[in-house]
Amino acid sequence: MLQPKMIELENQLNCSQNHNQPILMVKFDKKIKMGERLLCAHCLENFEQESKLIGFKKALKMIEEKQQSKLDNIQELIKANQEMVESLINQIQKLKSDLNQYLDELLSYSIDWIKNLNNIGLASSSYSFLDELELLINNPKDNLINLESIIQQLKLLNNSLSAKINIKISNLKNQDLYSQCEKILSNLNFFPHLKLFDDSIKQEDQCYAFSFNVSDSLMISASGCQIKVWDFVRGILNEITTLSLHTGPITCLQFSKKNNCFLSTGFDKQICCWNQINDKEWKNSQFYKQHTDCIDCLILNKSEDQLISGGRDHSIKVWKVDFLQNQLYYLYSLDKHTNGIYSLCLNQSENTLVSTDCFQIIIWKKDNKQKWQFENQITQNLQFIGSRLYFINNQQLILATRNEVKNYISILQLENGQQFNEIVDLKLIENNQIRDVNLFPICYNKEQNLMIFKHKLNVYLIKILKDGNLEVLTEMNYSTTFIFGKLTNDGKYLIIWEEARKKFDIYELQII
Ligand SMILES: [Zn+2]
Repeated sequence: MLQPKMIELENQLNCSQNHNQPILMVKFDKKIKMGERLLCAHCLENFEQESKLIGFKKALKMIEEKQQSKLDNIQELIKANQEMVESLINQIQKLKSDLNQYLDELLSYSIDWIKNLNNIGLASSSYSFLDELELLINNPKDNLINLESIIQQLKLLNNSLSAKINIKISNLKNQDLYSQCEKILSNLNFFPHLKLFDDSIKQEDQCYAFSFNVSDSLMISASGCQIKVWDFVRGILNEITTLSLHTGPITCLQFSKKNNCFLSTGFDKQICCWNQINDKEWKNSQFYKQHTDCIDCLILNKSEDQLISGGRDHSIKVWKVDFLQNQLYYLYSLDKHTNGIYSLCLNQSENTLVSTDCFQIIIWKKDNKQKWQFENQITQNLQFIGSRLYFINNQQLILATRNEVKNYISILQLENGQQFNEIVDLKLIENNQIRDVNLFPICYNKEQNLMIFKHKLNVYLIKILKDGNLEVLTEMNYSTTFIFGKLTNDGKYLIIWEEARKKFDIYELQII
């Protein structure tokens, strides 16, 4: 534990008159010069009240407390770094023991190789006197020794052992052995990073969706067909109430960014509005049903008077929202997709809507009556087709692909409002066996230029650099692709529910 230490000795402090007596009071005044603030008993006898005085001991205590709190913060930072270096040490030790084991095996194979070579020699060194006598008498001039079979045996032995050793050596080169070390080192180099804050809250039922209210003081989460409302204070969750209404698992929750109201939807194809009555009670609207299959995405415009929903029934529905009245009004349907809608996003000025299914991306534009109209569909470049989209400004959007073989995150540039150009891509951890699940929206924090991006088994914290490139700051590995999460509005906490472990992981974004 670090302790604050004052450089001056208390009995060396002297008043400005040099009376050489203990300091009793301090002039607590900006206008007084540094050397003239201390007063001893003698000074006080002739002191005229012109500035605020406080006791010397009190001033000393105030300074010590401030120093202690500064040191506590420093200590915490150093501890966080030391913990990471300690995990690096553990990893290096593990690497050392793995390497030792590999090298021991290599040595033992090589020693066996020598033994086997000797055995071939030994096997050839015995002969029969009578047989050799026969040969000597019948073919006295035949001194040729037939080495063909020995060469064959040596070849077999050498091939098999060098193959064995080669496998071991290529395992040694395998980066799996080193990647843990690299990962820890990169965490030490790059900040900000995510640190696990709490993983003690269990939930058995599926949690496919989360949302935070505008001040991040309330969180709503799906729990199968129910909605849980939580009090959220600096990463600590306390369950307030459970809202039961939906008849199928919930896939989307969307809080208003203005009031404590939200929207919910899911497998029951219905959308519901909710309005807070008091701490524990929420008033629900009627169910709004226009979709004929599960709804996978909901987006609200900035003024929160329009809602756009995308369903597995291949349709996009546009709604008028009135949070104050707790009502929705169905406006119209956009029916150009031929597969279920995975994701919807609006650009910054909200004149472009982009939607995606598993085979195409469609661009929609607002006409002069503010109605969405089909603009273009992009099907030819299948590598682009993704499961989640997010506009980071007016022209550029982030794309998460869903297929098995593309393990990239891309930034697409909208050209002439009609086409996309892939301008940046970043290779992610390769996994060509699995398809991604689309219900973990891309979370983007504009202030810090950071995003949370889920891809297959991993959740990445990615920074969009000034030059537009992408840099992975942290990655978290999970055992299945059924992971769902959300970043708070202020970007300080990330919450994840993983189906395999059936619990919440709350991460804190730390910037050092
Ligand atoms: Zn004095």
